[in-house]
Amino acid sequence: EGSAAPIRGDSADVIGCIVVFRDMTPRKELLSEITRKANFDSLTHLPNRNLFHDRLDQMVAQSGRTRSGVALFYLDIDEFKDINDTMGHPFGDLLLKEIAGRISAVVRESDTVARLGGDEFCIIADKIGSREEALLFAGNVRDHLSKPYQLEGVDLRVTTSIGVALFPEDGITPTVLVRNADIAMYQAKGKGRNGIEHFSPEMDRAIQDRASIENRLYLALEHSEFVLFYQPIVDLQSGKMVSVEALVRWDHPEFGMVSPDRFIPVAEKNGMIIPMGRWVLEQACRQAKSWLEAQDLSLLVKVNVSIRQLLQADFVTEVERSLLSNGLPAEMLELEITESLLMENLGELKQTLSRLKGMGVRLSIDDFGTGYSSLSYLSHLNLNTLKIDQSFTKGIGIHPNDDSIVKTILALARSLSLEVVAEGVETVLQSDFLVKNGCSVHQGYLYARPQPASSIPGYREQFFSSPVL
Ligand code: C2E
Ligand code: MG
Ligand code: MG
Repeated sequence: EGSAAPIRGDSADVIGCIVVFRDMTPRKELLSEITRKANFDSLTHLPNRNLFHDRLDQMVAQSGRTRSGVALFYLDIDEFKDINDTMGHPFGDLLLKEIAGRISAVVRESDTVARLGGDEFCIIADKIGSREEALLFAGNVRDHLSKPYQLEGVDLRVTTSIGVALFPEDGITPTVLVRNADIAMYQAKGKGRNGIEHFSPEMDRAIQDRASIENRLYLALEHSEFVLFYQPIVDLQSGKMVSVEALVRWDHPEFGMVSPDRFIPVAEKNGMIIPMGRWVLEQACRQAKSWLEAQDLSLLVKVNVSIRQLLQADFVTEVERSLLSNGLPAEMLELEITESLLMENLGELKQTLSRLKGMGVRLSIDDFGTGYSSLSYLSHLNLNTLKIDQSFTKGIGIHPNDDSIVKTILALARSLSLEVVAEGVETVLQSDFLVKNGCSVHQGYLYARPQPASSIPGYREQFFSSPVL
């Protein structure tokens, strides 16, 4: 029961309508409506975070009494953000509804399925006592979710990462249980799509490690804990060391020398890569100049730069400043950029790269073979060097595919008049194969490991020979 009053515009046409309802809903219904909103997700009608925690508390208390197991499954849809971005949010919502329906259909009546928000779902399942049972259960859910979807005429597939934690062995309180299932889910995601991982205490330690790395990284520069190592690159034609790659290390007060693979990704995320990269560049230029001046040793120095550095508006100026302040000729500096990231950001980077080239700085494409370079782009970039990714070097003589990939890369480099460096050369077999196929510039443990600047001049006198030359 209510009343409606028309709203009229200037011309007295009805342009809208205000409807006033007298509230006839009995208090009881109103209350249940409020409870529903507080406990259920409005999109999927699944229990929300609130009710999920209530149910988990109940199940854990019950299971503690009856000594039957409870399993907690933490689900996260892989790359859901991409689907949302490309197909739009309404489509994403539709997909989430469908996913919610599928999960509910495959679990048992007594299980609780909840949506914790976004593309995260949880399942609480009782009477699951062993890891094997839990993994079977998770596998079943995953398989149902990875069947094709048809929504609004679009065919698509999604994959899901699932983390599993059991009560009581993986956590004796609901809070710890959820946290550990979440950690396991992240671990699954880290290993690739559609994975299932059971929580283990080592995962917890790895996370604490990462957290302490992140916390300390802010101080590392101030405390002068970064060190540059240099790895000789040799040319078997002349038998000489021709250049070095600067590789950063973190001399951590607790963990010792930390490898860049462990802290560069963190530094890229929290922005520390910018000041750290600036330090690396400055340090490498100073070192190259000092070898030149004090030891009459002319070595091209190769410096890795992250894409985040390159995207900084003042990057070119910084490079210029490092060269000028140290009096280093631009031709003695080569910047290495990882292939996959270069290709993804090509549009924005083109100008930066051509300004660097204009200054005389050399450019190298690193980890070649791991991205998807288009040939025409490569030829337009005016690069100097192409570095074959070490995964291919490792496969030489082992995977016939890698043999042909290496040959193809070498042919490609020749046709674009690029210098080639083979990275990760560890065996004579790899070295011989490369030389026979026309690549004589090598970097790898077979010749020298990365080491402190002071031991580099010692390599000047060394002759690196190849039996096949
Ligand atoms: P990268 O640029 O591809 O560097 C080559 C990596 O291969 C180095 O690892 C080097 O020590 C290793 N390596 C060389 N020869 C061999 C070999 O024969 N066998 C094996 N197994 N490995 C070999 P490292 O020093 O751990 O550096 C890892 C990555 O971290 C580098 O890969 C680079 O992407 C990044 N990185 C290192 N220093 C910097 C830096 O100053 N700035 C930035 N942005 N990234 C850096
Ligand atoms: Mg490199
Ligand atoms: Mg590389």
